[in-house]
Amino acid sequence: MKKFILLFSLICLASCNISKQIVDRPIVFDEEREELTLEYLSNRYGLEQQTSAITPKMIVLHWTAIPTLEASFKAFEHSKLPNTRPDITNASALNVSSQFLIDQDGTIYRQMPETTMARHVIGLNHCAIGIENVGGTEGVPLTKRQLKANIRLVKYLSSKYTIEYLIGHYEYTNFVGHELWLEKDDGYRTEKTDPGKDFLEKVKKATKKYNFKQTPIKK
Ligand SMILES: [Zn+2]
Repeated sequence: MKKFILLFSLICLASCNISKQIVDRPIVFDEEREELTLEYLSNRYGLEQQTSAITPKMIVLHWTAIPTLEASFKAFEHSKLPNTRPDITNASALNVSSQFLIDQDGTIYRQMPETTMARHVIGLNHCAIGIENVGGTEGVPLTKRQLKANIRLVKYLSSKYTIEYLIGHYEYTNFVGHELWLEKDDGYRTEKTDPGKDFLEKVKKATKKYNFKQTPIKK
């Protein structure tokens, strides 16, 4: 019994601490965003849902390719896509976003509820939690503090949900044909390199004990 209590307090220490370190900074999630999300789930995936809730099975790591926190937050803030994204507007007017945004100094911001669908990865949004990192441009690479924060956050999410996969955005097309892949349009793809192979490998190595499944080999 004593052992059990000790174990329980240790688990709490690990996950309770991190939830205190997460700063809530919500993007707009109004009726319009909810409607566009339901429309996205229906049109892109054939999922008819009453709410925009997801069951997380995957974590996808990203970089924003935008050098500052404020500009990154602004890119996700509003419900509809700005006119600057004609490449993906045809698929849906729903703005891109992610559940988490990590600043260069390692501060973790939660932009929306962890189990609400965010548009951050083609084919897999219905089951994927997105972690965006500020930076990723030539002049503003991802930092060590961001790496540590990603590791902490992946650990926190993996002890809370049944996460099967931890992937980098650049790996998403490996899931085409996989049972989790639901995108209907074979022509709807964008080229991705984020968050870099080196960064992803380091997060994977530090979270090895969660035994994530291997990313499928590209067909
Ligand atoms: Zn990305």
